[in-house]
Formats: sequence, C-alpha cells, structure tokens
Amino acid sequence: MGTAIYSGSFDPITLGHLNIIKRARIIFPKIIVCVTVNAGKSPLFSLDERIEQVTQVISKFPNVEVAVCDTLIAEFARKHAAGVIIRGLRALSDYEREFSMALVNKKLNPDLETFFLAADEKYMYHSSSGVKELAHFGADLSGWCPREIIKPLQARMKQITAGGIAR
Ligand code: ADP
Repeated sequence: MGTAIYSGSFDPITLGHLNIIKRARIIFPKIIVCVTVNAGKSPLFSLDERIEQVTQVISKFPNVEVAVCDTLIAEFARKHAAGVIIRGLRALSDYEREFSMALVNKKLNPDLETFFLAADEKYMYHSSSGVKELAHFGADLSGWCPREIIKPLQARMKQITAGGIAR
C-alpha cells in the first residue's frame, strides 16, 4: 500500500480528524492531508491559516504531509501517485454522501480506492461546525480540537463578535 490522501476543509481541524490521521498513518506508509479550497463555503479561517494549523498539528508525525487541493481529489491523487483516499464515517448520515463520492472518484480515477475508517466513538458526534458553535459560545474547547487550535479559534471568534471581520 502506498500513499493515501485524507482530504477536508479542516475549518478547523478537530480531534475527530486527528484521530483518523493517527490511525491511518499506522496503516499507510505516507499520508497527505489535503486541505480543500471549497469555493462554495465561506470559511472561518483562510486557506493559509488552515494549512498552518494542520501543519502544526501533524508536525510530530514523520509520515504525514500537508498539501493544498484546488482541483478534484481524483486529479490530485493521480498527480501525487496516491492510490487511496481515506474517509471517516461518523453516523449513518455520512454514509450516503460518502458512498456516492467514492463512486464518483472511482469513475474519475479507476486506480483510486476509497478507504473508510469508522469514527472513534469518542468523536463520532464531533464536527468542525460543532466546534465553531462551541467556540462562539465560549465553551471549553479542550476536548474538541487540538490544543494548537484553541487560541486561534477563540481569537477569531472574539474578532467576529467585536465586528472586526465581516462574514
Ligand atoms: P469537509 O468540510 O470537506 O466536508 P469534513 O471535515 O466534514 O470536511 O470531513 C473530512 C473527512 O473527515 C470526512 O471523511 C469526514 O467524514 C471525516 N470526519 C470529520 N469529522 C470526523 C470525526 N469526528 N470522526 C471521524 N471522521 C471525521
């Protein structure tokens, strides 16, 4: 098994994402965490900020890299000679979307396999949007996102509350 890609918008990266990365890195020799641009969404953190945050979080894992993806994942995989895309499955509600995405990716790149990891039960109800909601209301974030993310997230929420950033 060669290189595997784990993609998402990571706005911000959560402990649920980190759990998937930690487990996948034991299975695959190299993981590329691929931060997607997602033109349709208006992110809390810019692409550069998200790249910097993910880079900090994965810095202790020698076989994990970060990259930007502004193309189709199927194209990105071809360019980086990656044969696997890793996805995390939380509830049944993830399944339908993930399954159709796997089929589309297979059609676009027949050499690409989708590898599903079941969410750890501790994180199965964790999501980036949930973490943002908690941050908005000033909740303790320590059980939700990696420690490197807590301060920037709190600071960004403060800016928004003070009207410093139009969203
Ligand atoms: P996007 O913003 O691109 O939709 P997500 O953060 O929702 O990205 O998801 C990226 C990948 O991480 C998906 O495969 C998703 O199912 C998985 N994922 C997200 N949160 C968790 C979690 N708490 N546990 C396991 N997998 C997760």
